[in-house]
Amino acid sequence: MVGIVVVSHSRRLAEGVAELATQMTQGKANIAIAAGVDDPENPIGTDTIAVMEAIERVNDEKGVIVLMDLGSALLSAEMALDLLDDQIKESVTLISAPIVEGTMAASVAAAAGLPLATVVEEAQNALGVKQAHLGDQPSTNAEPAQTAKQDKEALTYDWIVQNPHGLHARPAAAIVGALARFDCQLWLQKGDRQVNAKSLNSIAKLGVRCNETITIHALGSQAVDAIAAFKALAHDHFGEKQAVDDGALEHQSDEVDALQYEVNAQTIEGAITGISVNEGIVTAPVVLFTSDMPPVPDRPFGHKTDEITHVKQAIECVVQRLQRQAKQAKGDIFSAHSMMLSDPELWQSVESHIQSGMIAEQAWLETLHALAEEYRHAETLYMREREADVHDIARQVMIEMTGAKPQAIEIQEPSILLAHDLMPSDVAGLDKEKVLGICLSEGGKTSHSAILARAMGIPAMVKAQGCLDAVRSGQMVTLDGFKGHLWFAPSDEIQQALDAQKIEWQNARKSALASAQQVAMTRDGIAIPVLANIGGPNDLENALTSGAEGVGLFRTEFLFQDSEALPTEDEQYQVYRDIAAALGDKPLTIRSLDVGGDKPLAAYPMPEEDNPFLGLRGVRLCLKHEALFNTQLRAILKAFQVQPNIQLMIPMVAQVEEVKKVKALLAHQAQQLGMDASKLPVGIMIEVPAAVLNADALAQEVDFFSIGTNDLTQYVMAADRGNTAVAELVNYFEPSVLKAIELTCAAGERAGIPVSMCGEMAGDPNATQMLLGIGLRKFSASASLLPGLKAQIRQLSLQA
Ligand code: PEP
Ligand code: MG
Repeated sequence: MVGIVVVSHSRRLAEGVAELATQMTQGKANIAIAAGVDDPENPIGTDTIAVMEAIERVNDEKGVIVLMDLGSALLSAEMALDLLDDQIKESVTLISAPIVEGTMAASVAAAAGLPLATVVEEAQNALGVKQAHLGDQPSTNAEPAQTAKQDKEALTYDWIVQNPHGLHARPAAAIVGALARFDCQLWLQKGDRQVNAKSLNSIAKLGVRCNETITIHALGSQAVDAIAAFKALAHDHFGEKQAVDDGALEHQSDEVDALQYEVNAQTIEGAITGISVNEGIVTAPVVLFTSDMPPVPDRPFGHKTDEITHVKQAIECVVQRLQRQAKQAKGDIFSAHSMMLSDPELWQSVESHIQSGMIAEQAWLETLHALAEEYRHAETLYMREREADVHDIARQVMIEMTGAKPQAIEIQEPSILLAHDLMPSDVAGLDKEKVLGICLSEGGKTSHSAILARAMGIPAMVKAQGCLDAVRSGQMVTLDGFKGHLWFAPSDEIQQALDAQKIEWQNARKSALASAQQVAMTRDGIAIPVLANIGGPNDLENALTSGAEGVGLFRTEFLFQDSEALPTEDEQYQVYRDIAAALGDKPLTIRSLDVGGDKPLAAYPMPEEDNPFLGLRGVRLCLKHEALFNTQLRAILKAFQVQPNIQLMIPMVAQVEEVKKVKALLAHQAQQLGMDASKLPVGIMIEVPAAVLNADALAQEVDFFSIGTNDLTQYVMAADRGNTAVAELVNYFEPSVLKAIELTCAAGERAGIPVSMCGEMAGDPNATQMLLGIGLRKFSASASLLPGLKAQIRQLSLQA
């Protein structure tokens, strides 16, 4: 990428210019400053050595441009050239472009992978946009807006711009970033003016405003792809989708606005925005989590056909997994990776290495290293970024071939963890003292990794798209878990405000914790039980110190997921009994095994399903695999014999019939154990729309309901709770979800059975008043949320 050096008398000026450029290119520009002098008394000036060093820092084979403010900055820059190696010197261009506009235009062009000549041209023409806008004489260098060409072979696409501020610099930068990689000519037209669509200045000079029509023209071998890329970008409103949506929502009532999810405008300067998962503000260095390549095993060469089969099977396995993930619409990336793996040339190379006597793993790595190398030296930034994809697929196939375990996350000092996505097991294994915050580029508010982050009390956000590109390892960032912002370049003013808010948050937490052991009584004198959701014995102490009045949901999956073999009846019994005993007379609600969907079971692999969330999940799976289920039922019954504070809860119930079958199995197991099953309270989770609509009949069969809003929301809204693309739909404030909750509470009341809520909504202080209003009287949430939840309830009254 062409490097950019900003030379200025003032360090603060140069830093500001670089900050703007970093913002504009999402941190992709390769930019260095040489500004001010090392004299605290008189810091204004320029330093030749500093200019030389800055050039060396950003130099690569694409060249470097240097922008200067005035006077001696030019002299320092010229002298710096004389000090450089001849080879570097040849690739450096000093340009007369204005320092602010020129740096912006050059950065966008350079970040898009454009060559030196284009970057220089963009910088030189940068002032023209302002001049044209203000009606000044355009500079002599400014590219005149061309008249539309009528090339019949060019492909075209029309679009009405809906961005509130038209195609200003950021959308224009997005267009250049998306189109620069295509090998074709591209023009953007407004009215009778047509400009180069790979040029930031030219696009900005068109001065396109909201509601104006633009046309993209593409001519050349990649015209079809370029039009498709433009179309996709246009539908995303050139990266400002939320700004457009916000504009459209402006007229909605405040009440509705208050219920919107906190998906924020993607355009905050100095921050990446996403969805808030857990509140809190933390500042710490970044740890980027990406996994390492398993080593090539030290083994002799087998038979050629065996070696070939070994790689083929591993590739096949990974392709199938990627295709499944692609089908679940978790992003095009999976289809792209799957296509890469199916490339016949890739396979030819692997095969020829094996023919020459290389073992399968080595042959695979040699091939993929060569491919990665090609990408690394590709012309455009976009293609160079594909090197990471090659690394990813190479690793996945190596894991299959070597049987290596996915890598553990190791963090040495208190940090903010950034990752693409994390498995629940990754999050569960995190050291809370070291992981101060979590920011994922994928995921949703109720995906299981998010739930675990909340349970551990770690400020977190998800769907922070682009976060992995915007920051580097070790960089200091501030995660605002209230708003779902990851600040990588806040202004001093914003950083101060964040620091103040952090202190306020910490104080509020301390005072809520101090009163956590007291009952949560509403202002009109109704005591609302507040219980904890736990994932295992390790969560218990935190739950109790946070004021839990029992356990409303014990997700027993951890017992099954953490071990390679299934837990025995006795192992399960001991865990259930010990947790119940630690709770004294407070209730322990044990949820029977709830796997399937996004919770696979390593120790008990199931056949793949096309739609796992609509497949053999929860009680359905247990009823199909009776031996597995009976072991758990027996362990629960035996624990209940010694701990009468235990109750059983069944997940994913859709029919009365399912409840009857579970009860029949329970009765049978109890009979074998010589006990009476009818004493054990049995409840169900209400998380499937069918259960809501049939709640009256179900209420006749069970002792309690607990509303699982995580699944209920995904099924009511038909939106996968872990799929980033539909994260906005997975919103428990949707009227249809609220209605389902209200119906469930009413059915429970009619039947005289308690109704609690254990989905993530229960812990959301913004939902508490509404839930009390529609009849909910019992809450169960992650331990870290309980003090705040109790404090919130104390402020409310049922009548409000
Ligand atoms: C729910 O669906 O709301 C729930 C509590 O269960 P889980 O999140 O474990 O699926
Ligand atoms: Mg559920």
